[in-house]
Amino acid sequence: MAATSRVDSQGKAPSSAPMPRILSGIQPSGQLHLGNWAGAVRQWVELQETQESFIFVASYHALTTVKKPEELRHAVRQIAVDLVALGIDPARTCLYAQQDVPEVTELAWLLSCVCPMSLADKGVSFKDKTAKGFEANLGLYTYPILQAADILGPDSDIVPVGKDQIQHIEIARDLAGKFNALYGEVFKLPAWRLHPESDVLPGIDGQKMSKSYGNTIDPFQDEKPLRKRIMSIVSDSTPVDQPKDPDSDATFRIFRAVAGKADPRTIELERKYREPPAGGFGYGHAKQALFEMLLERFAAARTRRAQLMADPAEIDRILAQGAQRARVLVRATVDRARRACGLA
Ligand code: AMP
Repeated sequence: MAATSRVDSQGKAPSSAPMPRILSGIQPSGQLHLGNWAGAVRQWVELQETQESFIFVASYHALTTVKKPEELRHAVRQIAVDLVALGIDPARTCLYAQQDVPEVTELAWLLSCVCPMSLADKGVSFKDKTAKGFEANLGLYTYPILQAADILGPDSDIVPVGKDQIQHIEIARDLAGKFNALYGEVFKLPAWRLHPESDVLPGIDGQKMSKSYGNTIDPFQDEKPLRKRIMSIVSDSTPVDQPKDPDSDATFRIFRAVAGKADPRTIELERKYREPPAGGFGYGHAKQALFEMLLERFAAARTRRAQLMADPAEIDRILAQGAQRARVLVRATVDRARRACGLA
C-alpha cells in the first residue's frame, strides 16, 4: 500500500506537516505475549516520543470471543497495566479502553452501510478464528468494520501494527475511501506501519505466536515456568556438533526479534548456530541464552508491573483520562459523518 502523502515510509511526517497521530490497539483476550510486544507494543513505545499517540484496549473486539464477564473485566485492566509496564507513558500516550468510547460503535454502523458484503467476506480474522473453533458470530464477521471505526474515529494518520493486521488497515482505508467518495471528504486515510525489524513472531510450536494457539511466551511469567516454557520450544534433532540453520529455528528467531539483529548477542548466537564451537552447541544452550536475555530485557518492566498491580486505582484513573480525551475526538468525527450522510 502507498502511504498517505502526509507521511513517509517510516511513518514520519515532512517537517512542515503537523505532528502525525498514531493509533493502535490490542485485544484483552488473554495475556499479552512476546508477539504483541515485537510486532506492535515496542513501536508504540518508540513512536510516542515523536508522535501524538492513541492506544486502546480493544474490549468490544474481545467480546466476540471472551464470554466470561469477570475474565473480560480483569483482562482489560491487566492489558492496560502491562502496556504501561512495557513503557507506554500515559503522559505521552492517550491510553483508553474501547468500551469507554461507545461512539466507535455508531461510527461502525455508518461504515457498515457503505461496506459491500464482498469486502467483509475477505476478512482474514473471521476465517482464522472460526477455523480455530470460535463461534461464527456476526461481531467476529464485522470485526474489520469496527476496527475501521477505531482507526478513523480519532483521525489517525499512522497505524503501527504487526504484519497480520495489514489487511484490516487496508479494509479501513477502503471503507474511508468509499464513504468519502459518496459523501465528501469526511475521513483521513491512514497508513499502516510495521516495525523495521518486523516479522511474524513464532510461538513455542513454530507457528505464529498467538493467544488462540496456546503457544505464547509471556514476558511477565515467573522465572521458573518461563524457563520451562522456553525449554519446550520446538527444535529439530540436529546433533550439538553439527551446524544449524538459525533462520528456521523458533528459538533463534525469537531471540533475534527481541534483542535486535545488530545486537552483539544475536550475532554471537548466529555464529554458534552456523559454526558450533569445540564441545558443540545445542538447542538447549540457545534456549538458555534466550531465557537469560528475556529476563534482562524485561527486568524493569517486570518491576514496574508489580508496582502497578499493587495500585489498581492508578490504572483506572489513566484509562478514564484517556477515554475522556478520545471521546471528544471520536464524537467530532461521528458528527461530521452524520452530517455528511444526511443524519444531522
Ligand atoms: P491482538 O493480540 O490480535 O490484539 O494483536 C495486537 C497486536 O500485536 C497487533 O498489531 C498484531 O499485529 C500484533 N501481533 C500479534 N501476534 C503477533 C505475532 N505473532 N507476531 C507479530 N505481531 C503480532
